Amino acid sequence: EVANLALREESLTDPLTGLPNRRVMDKALDEAISRVKRDAPRTLTLAMIDVDSFKSFNDIYGHPAGDDLLRLLGKVLISAIRPYDCVARIGGEEFAILLADTTIGEAFSIIERLRSTVEQTSWPHRAITISAGLYSWREGMSKEAFVEAADQQLYAAKRGGRNCVIANAVSRDQ
Ligand code: GH3
Ligand code: MG
Ligand code: MG
Repeated sequence: EVANLALREESLTDPLTGLPNRRVMDKALDEAISRVKRDAPRTLTLAMIDVDSFKSFNDIYGHPAGDDLLRLLGKVLISAIRPYDCVARIGGEEFAILLADTTIGEAFSIIERLRSTVEQTSWPHRAITISAGLYSWREGMSKEAFVEAADQQLYAAKRGGRNCVIANAVSRDQ
């Protein structure tokens, strides 16, 4: 039983950072979308976060230093969120935060504060920044469309020059 529990824990945890993994976020999204559909007018906001110019960090300081950076960043992310938010490492240097009962404006404050913290933190080797895209769930949206919409905001943040947070301007909570 203990071995099974450990196995289950392992299947839900990203081994590098110790954060929940993509599978956890996927389930959290399913559950949160069911809830927001059932109990309208609740709000639900998804933040997609990506480390800026991380390839060059690896190229200059090496992959192990990059790994250390991701581990440290994981800790910063954990300390930036509230206990009921879900944070996960969903890809290489990409993270997601699901903020339940949170309007786009409230989410913007939280993630903008995180962006600023990352910018001001004294990291090993060199300064690091993140870009983030936020999207508030809208009536009738599938999980896939919701994730895609948040991703589009992240691309907009990258196109906008990086080290910034972009959010969809209009949603039912405004
Ligand atoms: P952008 O600002 O557009 O996001 O640029 P970028 O360089 O961060 O993006 P790109 O997709 O070109 O490169 C991502 C890099 O992240 C490439 C890869 O070396 C690094 N990376 C991804 N996963 C890991 C990991 O687990 N460990 C380390 N050390 N590096 C990783
Ligand atoms: Mg990147
Ligand atoms: Mg990336």
